[in-house]
Amino acid sequence: MTTDRVAVIGSGPAGLMAAEVLSEAGVGVDVYEAMPSAGRKFLMAGKSGLNISHTGSGHDFLMRFRDYSGLFPDHIGAFGPDEVTRWMEDLGMPAHVGPTGRIFPQSMKASPLLRAWLRRLSEQGVRLHLKHRWTGWTQEGALSFDTPEGELIVPPAAIVFALGGGSWRRLGSDGAWASLFDQAGIEVAPFRPSNCGFTVDWSDRMREQFAGAPVKGVKLSAGGQATREEFAVTARGVESGGVYTLSAALGDEIEAKGSATLWLDLLPDLDVAETARRLAAAPAKQSFSNRLRKALKITGVKAALLFECADRETLNDPARAAEAIKALPLKLTGTVPVDEAISTAGGVAWNALDEQLMLKAKPGHFCAGEMIAWDAPTGGYLITACMATGRAAGRGVLDWLARRATE
Ligand SMILES: Cc1cc2nc3c(=O)[nH]c(=O)nc-3n(C[C@H](O)[C@H](O)[C@H](O)COP(=O)(O)OP(=O)(O)OC[C@H]3O[C@@H](n4cnc5c(N)ncnc54)[C@H](O)[C@@H]3O)c2cc1C
Repeated sequence: MTTDRVAVIGSGPAGLMAAEVLSEAGVGVDVYEAMPSAGRKFLMAGKSGLNISHTGSGHDFLMRFRDYSGLFPDHIGAFGPDEVTRWMEDLGMPAHVGPTGRIFPQSMKASPLLRAWLRRLSEQGVRLHLKHRWTGWTQEGALSFDTPEGELIVPPAAIVFALGGGSWRRLGSDGAWASLFDQAGIEVAPFRPSNCGFTVDWSDRMREQFAGAPVKGVKLSAGGQATREEFAVTARGVESGGVYTLSAALGDEIEAKGSATLWLDLLPDLDVAETARRLAAAPAKQSFSNRLRKALKITGVKAALLFECADRETLNDPARAAEAIKALPLKLTGTVPVDEAISTAGGVAWNALDEQLMLKAKPGHFCAGEMIAWDAPTGGYLITACMATGRAAGRGVLDWLARRATE
């Protein structure tokens, strides 16, 4: 005997958006969350500024996504950057657009936005059940939860799974749902780190003197893509900014060849010929480091990268040194562990879902957010897509319930 309420499992941006659509339509919603509080990863995403979306045409926006199905553009089209901005304004949180088009709430942090959102959901009758971990289906197809009071069995009218990807387990999204889906015969593509750091076999000098150093004013390229965002050297390798933007292409190369090359242009505003001319014009009696500093203003971590990735013979010849400065190959030996990635690629396969994000194998069960197999760089694309698919799943449930009522 099913209830007339809908279960949403997971209280990240995807689950809360599904709960919003359903409760706005007057449907009773229970949100079940394994952790002791809601939206922990959303809060973490806002720690240094919640980049919730990104300006740009619909086409530009979509071009940032990978591994999506033909249906995905409709979901994003229905809830893109303009809709996210209006949605925040409705919650009393106007948007701030950064110089590169990144959209943030003016408060920058996620906590005021999440508080206002949870308040509105509660006013719309949404019930939030914390410390309720979904553990699978019963023989009869009801949901079973592990709760502080013991096992709870719930037979909802419909279900939205919004269980997140497989990184930052301590925030709740541990990817454990993948084996439950697998056992139920639902195709799940393996998780892969995305927006992640990479390992480099640094020399001791590089590791000891430059771990933590930001590398600014460079151009990074990999797999036919390029970016001028900065990145950081770490004790293990490289991370953040431009490295995250190129992480999908770099991950592909590592998967195919066991390692990848990140190409660095240390002087993106100077061409090779001018770089070589300035180097050659510097007095030969000066050390190479001094010529680099005086003729080209390459110092600190940038000079260290050059010494790390180019051999002495190359650097002794101004023409070859200039080529190295403009296209320096940094060998990446692997990715950091998946749990440290900002997000994960992989998840529920698109062909396991219908056009309304319902699992074909389980009528009345819908999926939303990062748990579906799409991928995008940071920059606001992740959260927007989570909200857009949460909305689509919520609408799918409404259509499903309406169809059931007339059967
Ligand atoms: C450090 C960091 C910074 C980030 N910065 C940005 C950014 O600036 N911009 C951006 O767009 N994205 C950013 N992201 C990514 C973004 O936060 C995620 O893509 C987004 O939160 C995913 O939303 P979701 O609703 O799909 O899943 P999640 O937010 O992961 O929520 C899933 C929820 O499901 C719960 N859950 C899991 N399993 C169960 C279960 N069995 N039973 C009950 N509950 C369960 C989890 O506890 C969790 O609360 C960042 C991520 C990190 C880690």
